Amino acid sequence: MTHFPSLRRISRRVDVTRVDRESKDTKLRRLPPAGAPIRERPVTTRTLLLTIALLAAGLALAAPASAAAATPDPARALHEGLLTIDTHLDTPANFAKPGWDILDRHQIADESRVDYPRMVEGGLDGGFFAIYTPQGPRTPAGDAAARDAALLRAVEIREMVARHGDKFELALKADDAAAIVARGKRVVFMSIENSYPLEGDLTLMATFQKLGVRLIGPVHFKDNDLADSSTDAPEWHGLSPRGRQFVAEANRLGMVLDASHASDDVLDQMIALSHTPIILSHSGCKAVFDHPRNIDDKRLKALADSGGVIQINAMSAYLIPTPKNPAREAAMAALMAKMNPPGGLSAAQQQALRVEYRQIQKTYPEPRATLEDYMAQLLHALKVAGVDHVGIGADMDGGGGVVGLEDVAAYPVITKRLLAAGYTRDDLVKIWGGNVLRVLRQAEAYKASLTPP
Ligand SMILES: [Zn+2]
Repeated sequence: MTHFPSLRRISRRVDVTRVDRESKDTKLRRLPPAGAPIRERPVTTRTLLLTIALLAAGLALAAPASAAAATPDPARALHEGLLTIDTHLDTPANFAKPGWDILDRHQIADESRVDYPRMVEGGLDGGFFAIYTPQGPRTPAGDAAARDAALLRAVEIREMVARHGDKFELALKADDAAAIVARGKRVVFMSIENSYPLEGDLTLMATFQKLGVRLIGPVHFKDNDLADSSTDAPEWHGLSPRGRQFVAEANRLGMVLDASHASDDVLDQMIALSHTPIILSHSGCKAVFDHPRNIDDKRLKALADSGGVIQINAMSAYLIPTPKNPAREAAMAALMAKMNPPGGLSAAQQQALRVEYRQIQKTYPEPRATLEDYMAQLLHALKVAGVDHVGIGADMDGGGGVVGLEDVAAYPVITKRLLAAGYTRDDLVKIWGGNVLRVLRQAEAYKASLTPP
């Protein structure tokens, strides 16, 4: 809808930085270690022959590598040059776990799909790190407990960034993203998934905004005091009266509204009420797989017409049918009940739960969606909504990850598939972050318009 000429400049700047960084690393690898002695040796026939033989062997070994270096994967190279943002990373749930460090490489078998090494490997520049709060009792005590948990999670995200300030940086506005990448760091936007923590006191939204939150969704799996969930019975038939105030307050504070998990009525009402476009940070298309978490084509078009963006989710349950398995559900519920005891879990307790989780997976295996299912969703959304209204929000660490797209390290395959489907570099700039940053800029501009200088 709105054209942002600065996007091209941003991505070119990113390209240059990356090339500089890579060539610097390559040069460093070629140099001898500092202080290494350079010795002269008498050259005998024997050493000469040996040298020739070694050189020949070395050349023979080096040949395929040189050939490979001469023809790098163009899709991969293009991917590295993009500013890539995933709008739903549930990784902050790990930040306070004893001994867990985002700089370590973790295991998919432990349901970990995002960490620094794999962000680098997958060319993922950053994303919206979620403050997720499960819906609990809608009572003053429940609201207060949710508020405290969410405030602590926000602090934990900031602590992670502070601890690893050479590798991560908090982004507070859309333009920060490219600047942070240019400084060689990963981008940390903050988001709220489920506004249960502020359903009892909307003035808290300003507190979360000050902490850095820029994307906010009203509801999760269950209805709350703000809105109906897509996976619960209608209670308000959309937004509650307080939910309407919630929309106005998000607009006033320059935050982007997120309709993922909200019911279709909430989506319709948020599009109608919000002064700036909304996004669905991790959702899909009903036309490809009919699930309450996905939206129909009519709404997809309405979202696009209003300037909004859908970010496609990689969660199996929203991509392919999952047969009911009460025994598995009981085992998972028992496991989940042990996940958050007061006082947290020791490293040994965490390990025991990991073993239990793997055992459940083995005993009750579920059908898993594949990259093909993910691409079917992504390509459908692109066809219906257009390239200015689709992006990536794969729900990694929140249940996302499919065969062929198991973790963020695999993200270049999305670029490869989109190029193969005929999308251009300019399209990929939009899909991988340009669209969602444009919506954030619109939210910022609306906020600025309310307070003239
Ligand atoms: Zn979610």
